Amino acid sequence: MRQIVIIGSGPAGYTAAIYAARANLKPLVIASSVEFGGELMKTTEVENFPGFPEGIMGPDLMMKMQEQAERFGAEIVYDDVTKLELAGEVKRIHRGDGTVEEALTVIYATGSEYRKLGLADETRLSGYGVSWCATCDGAFFKQKKVAVIGGGDSALEEATFLTRFADVVYLVHRRDAFRASAAMQDRAFADPKIQILWNLEVAHIYGDEKVTGIGLTSTVDDTETTLDVQGVFVAIGADPRTHLVHGQLDLTAEGTIAVDGRSSRTNIPGVFAAGDVVDPTYKQAVTAAGSGTVAALDAEHFLAALPNEVLVRAGGDPREPGAPVPAAATV
Ligand code: NAP
Repeated sequence: MRQIVIIGSGPAGYTAAIYAARANLKPLVIASSVEFGGELMKTTEVENFPGFPEGIMGPDLMMKMQEQAERFGAEIVYDDVTKLELAGEVKRIHRGDGTVEEALTVIYATGSEYRKLGLADETRLSGYGVSWCATCDGAFFKQKKVAVIGGGDSALEEATFLTRFADVVYLVHRRDAFRASAAMQDRAFADPKIQILWNLEVAHIYGDEKVTGIGLTSTVDDTETTLDVQGVFVAIGADPRTHLVHGQLDLTAEGTIAVDGRSSRTNIPGVFAAGDVVDPTYKQAVTAAGSGTVAALDAEHFLAALPNEVLVRAGGDPREPGAPVPAAATV
């Protein structure tokens, strides 16, 4: 049995692993078989993570976080979690390869997944011109025309990135104002390859085997237009990845995991949540990292308050006789 298992390997999961490993809790990080490293593996330059004044590529940042966690003894496995049994003192974490991990605490940091437009042709043409990741697929669209859907930071970042390859990037937004940061907007407005199309929603994606165009409906007067494009990049946000804990952990009205105040404590003692899966608002790599720190410290305090025999059973060090139980151990 382990003292701590961390599910997820984005900034929240790895930061929790760094703290837990430095606290000698020997964490196991279950990093996903395909999407390890989280969303930053799909981004290009990260310019707003403190400590990197020249910027750093997203995948490089994640590799550094992983190295830092491993340096202190975190163990990382590339596998998916298929089922969780969280009630009770010992948590059971079922892995894709059939292994069942047992742990006294779990930090759930599974991030979020891309939203879909909800069109049948979007699914059918996924991988054939429809994409959610410009970093992954942008190079397939050299000298082509593409559309990016959305008006947040992701959409503007994707549009700007795609100008490296595509001749024309249409940025299609359903309103007449972006919610992206001013810096992102300035960059997009100044880019001669980006054409901004306001007040339009995607009603159709056309193409038999590959995308050939999209049908757009005006959000102002319902008029319809078509646009010839070979690529459609959907960048309309993401939803917290909570399917593994439905029926076990309480959720908020926004669909994120409910935690107690500013802590990471969920409704189940010993289960903590961190990163985008608890954050409907800020969703930054830095805030996720901070949230991972909170979860590791909460888990540490929780473990420190458990009876010695339980800790020892999980491979932990017993508390010195007479040592005070940490004040924060109120879970
Ligand atoms: P977001 O901020 O939630 O923006 C989603 C955008 O998609 C909005 O403009 C929204 O329109 C539009 N949208 C949502 N559903 C739609 C639908 N069904 N059809 C058409 N349009 C739809 O999501 P995000 O851009 O992925 O950003 C998420 C968070 O990550 C934000 O906090 C952002 O700051 C952060 N982020 C930061 C960076 C960076 O700093 N480098 C990069 C990427 C993301 P409305 O505006 O009309 O709601």
